[in-house]
Amino acid sequence: MRPTEQKLDSKITYLKSVGPHKAEILNKELGIFTFRDLLYQFPFRYVDKTKFHRIKDVKDPNVSVQVKGKLINFEQVKGRRQSRLTAMLKDESGFIELVWFKGMRWIQKMLVVGETYVVFGKPNFYKGKKSIPHPEMEKLSEASGTKKLSFDPVYPSTEKLDAKSLGSKGRRTLLKYLLSEIGPQDLKENLSPDLITKLKLPSRYDSLVWIHFPPSEEKLNAAINRIKFEELFFLQLRLLQMKKHRNLRFIGSPFEVVGDKFNRFYNEKLPFELTNAQKRVIKEIRADIGSGAQMNRLLQGDVGSGKTIVALMIMLIALDNGYQACMMAPTEILAQQHYQTLLEQLEGLAIKVAFLSGTVTGKKRVELLKLLAQGDIDILVGTHALIEDPVIFKNLGLAITDEQHRFGVAQRAKLWKKNKKAPPHILVMTATPIPRTLAMTVYGDLDVSIIDELPPGRKDIQTVHRKENQRAHVLKFMHDEIAKGRQIYVVFPLIEESEKLDLQNLQTGYEQLLQFFPPEQFQISVVHGRMKPKDKDAEMQRFVEGKTKIMVATTVIEVGVNVPNASVMIIENAERFGLSQLHQLRGRVGRGAEQSYCILMSSYKVSKDGKERIKTMTNTNNGFEIAEVDMRLRGPGDIMSTQQSGILDLKLVNLVADHKILQTARHLAQDILDEDPNLEDTKYSNIKGYVDNVLKRKYRNWSRIS
Ligand code: ADP
Ligand code: MG
Repeated sequence: MRPTEQKLDSKITYLKSVGPHKAEILNKELGIFTFRDLLYQFPFRYVDKTKFHRIKDVKDPNVSVQVKGKLINFEQVKGRRQSRLTAMLKDESGFIELVWFKGMRWIQKMLVVGETYVVFGKPNFYKGKKSIPHPEMEKLSEASGTKKLSFDPVYPSTEKLDAKSLGSKGRRTLLKYLLSEIGPQDLKENLSPDLITKLKLPSRYDSLVWIHFPPSEEKLNAAINRIKFEELFFLQLRLLQMKKHRNLRFIGSPFEVVGDKFNRFYNEKLPFELTNAQKRVIKEIRADIGSGAQMNRLLQGDVGSGKTIVALMIMLIALDNGYQACMMAPTEILAQQHYQTLLEQLEGLAIKVAFLSGTVTGKKRVELLKLLAQGDIDILVGTHALIEDPVIFKNLGLAITDEQHRFGVAQRAKLWKKNKKAPPHILVMTATPIPRTLAMTVYGDLDVSIIDELPPGRKDIQTVHRKENQRAHVLKFMHDEIAKGRQIYVVFPLIEESEKLDLQNLQTGYEQLLQFFPPEQFQISVVHGRMKPKDKDAEMQRFVEGKTKIMVATTVIEVGVNVPNASVMIIENAERFGLSQLHQLRGRVGRGAEQSYCILMSSYKVSKDGKERIKTMTNTNNGFEIAEVDMRLRGPGDIMSTQQSGILDLKLVNLVADHKILQTARHLAQDILDEDPNLEDTKYSNIKGYVDNVLKRKYRNWSRIS
């Protein structure tokens, strides 16, 4: 076996017609340095020349068309600035004008009036008249061979590339040269024979030829399908291998028993019956922490699905096994809320719970750290202050982080070091549902548990869309709700480019509200990101305690706050918010027994995407459905930030459209690894060879993902 695919690694200058100058442009504009780079830059679309349009049906200025008709007459037209040559083409349905501004004499010589031509080009529409400027023309007799009835690939190009004839046409020429240099022996098959048979895939070599030079639509599709599968298969293989290796490498503290603390809580304290989803998730986590390997698990559950109680019960298992546990939240308020909840729910169970954040200082802090290091604190709840250096546990067995998207990867990594003997088990909880396909790729090496069921008796939040002319109704509605004893959030968008404008928005909105809710009668809280954390928390606290009835805020309230009495969420300029943000904000209400409402206010002019976001919100409360739409609108790269972008560097795959291929690839990769973790069987030698020799370089840059 070749150690690497040498031929493909040849510098692009070794290709016929590519000199240093062209090579430099290919490097700079497209990142093409080698034969492989050229071969693996795929067309982003194909021009369908297999079909003929009727001239009558030519309507879309954005789509190139192929028509067939008789050339009628030429005419020289003198324009003010530029003269042109025109001709008419006629088929049984109508006429279209053909136009040339250059090479007119030559055109007139080459084309024969009265002949039938196959004409290809992008149509123009001007004052009801159709034309095709500078069409590609071919006499029907010549075109009727199969040659022109093809899919022509279109490659990404730039002005510079076009200027050097390295646009689509030029690239096709380069690829032709390339394919005359390399053959099947240089593109060794990288999938196992049984996969190829089972999935009826064309060979690697054929696929790469066909994707650039499609012999037919069917073969083109087969090639695209195969290359997509390959991308996803090797990605999944890698992720699953990482997961496996990590499980082997990091011995976790095995939580073998479920003891007194868990059982007493379960039997005496559990405030409600767990949902089936909660039970299932607890089982999954228990199996994981009891296995002897370190747990790295993502717990997904929509807002209000009851993740806290799951966290609590898992922490009790840690305690039952003689370990400490900690739970981190991204904000002071949220951490405080968790602390209060734990105190209440664990009352009478002789479990020491403590709170730590930046606000715990002086003697109190010193004392707390001492107790923690001695093992006299069982559960520590707090903000990211928990992971700072001087915080030392006696033996931390489990670390839980809530609302994952606010925690950086680096912060989570610090948790690993908090126990000297073995890294603690890690449970990351997120209320931002991640589309399944993304979870499978970006978090493909993490275990995932999903709570996909809300506690019983929840009333769906009613969501409506209102425009400015309905403001009076909205204000009246607010009055009525407050009269019923409810509280209301009014949220203004945060526009990053202009903090000033944000505040102005908020300020204007606040002043407007004051006119309708005079301060003598109503207390209004105002919270925004520019306030000192202390003031912000104090203001929040007033609302939490019910002292203020309306909370006017920027998105700082997005995460976690629990005010069950708040039943109305009004989002101003809702069209400016992203879907997941809207969903998070809406999740602030609907936490009590009352019917809750979310009112999306918008201006009259809303973009197409904005409309779709608002419509999605009014249509569904399901976070997973919303996440899917979000991914469709924004693309996966935008949802996951930089850290994971390397993983999402998929050339052909669209995670939204290709989810089925993804699932197949993941299952098959899993099956293979289950059967033969090190790919030692000769039937996997193709796969192993490719992973070891070709992909290894690519993976070198992959840091641990999680
Ligand atoms: P989240 O998943 O958003 O963190 P919480 O854990 O805060 O949700 O739970 C939301 C509310 O639902 C809390 O008041 C909690 O006590 C309640 N809750 C959780 N699980 C159940 C259940 N199985 N039955 C009834 N209420 C529940
Ligand atoms: Mg929560």
